[in-house]
Amino acid sequence: MWPRSPPNHKEWQGSGTTAHFGDIVLGRCYTYTQIVRPELRDKDCQKIQEVFLKSFLSKDPCDATEQDYQPLIELANQTVPCNKTVFWSKTKELAHQYTRVQQALFTLENTLLGYIADDLSWCGDSGSSEINYQSCPTRRDNCSSNPVSVFWNTVSKRFAEDACGVVHVVLNGSLNEAFDRRSTFGRVEIHNLHPKKVHTLQAWVMHDIGGVRSDSCSSSSIRDLKSIISERNITFTCQNNYRPVRFLQCVKNPEHPSCTSGI
Ligand code: NAD
Repeated sequence: MWPRSPPNHKEWQGSGTTAHFGDIVLGRCYTYTQIVRPELRDKDCQKIQEVFLKSFLSKDPCDATEQDYQPLIELANQTVPCNKTVFWSKTKELAHQYTRVQQALFTLENTLLGYIADDLSWCGDSGSSEINYQSCPTRRDNCSSNPVSVFWNTVSKRFAEDACGVVHVVLNGSLNEAFDRRSTFGRVEIHNLHPKKVHTLQAWVMHDIGGVRSDSCSSSSIRDLKSIISERNITFTCQNNYRPVRFLQCVKNPEHPSCTSGI
């Protein structure tokens, strides 16, 4: 009989670990440290891969903890200069298009750990030392303390704690709520900014071209964000359709009226 469960049995509702996870982690680590940010060329990618795997293998994938990722976070540590941090919420593609042009700016995915892990899935099992390529727990159907969610919560917290000067956030003004308290930005990042280091949060509320203008700097969700930030003694500023980011949206819609006049 099977020792635990048959090899094709799907235990969880989510997709399994990304195929070639270990190789992708190692490859991305080398790409980042040798090509994207050669100032980090001395990082030990073999060690980073090994420690990443150790952080979740042979462990219950519904009982991941912040501590599991501490050794990885220490190994991959990196300084983001003051005034260069960019958060985002529901604007991943646009925020990354912007930091691709403005290479001095960093989203979490422009740091080594975010770069390595972006869009990957991973999990193990407490009864085996193997990677689970069949299925992994999801937040919605299985458990919130799964290895991927805990990873993003932990690295997002650290990314916010490390920020200094003026920090930025790209928000989606075409949603009912541009600011969502339940998002990682609303739940983790804003609460972990250090008021002694971060003096201003600058929000850029971007509207989809041709989309509805449902939320903007004067809307209730942004007022909500402003009050949380102000209570933490951080100055809040907000701009609708921040021009440099708007220009990127206009690349795909050059004839739209909002791109031909008044921007
Ligand atoms: P969002 O709602 O647009 O979420 C971004 C993506 O991350 C979505 O695919 C979402 O499903 C996923 N995600 C968010 N929280 C998660 C969690 N706890 N577990 C698993 N997946 C999760 O925006 P957001 O929630 O505000 O997160 C974006 C902010 O948080 C950024 O500022 C970034 O620094 C950080 N973050 C990045 C990622 C990523 O996948 N690169 C994931 C979570 C958080």
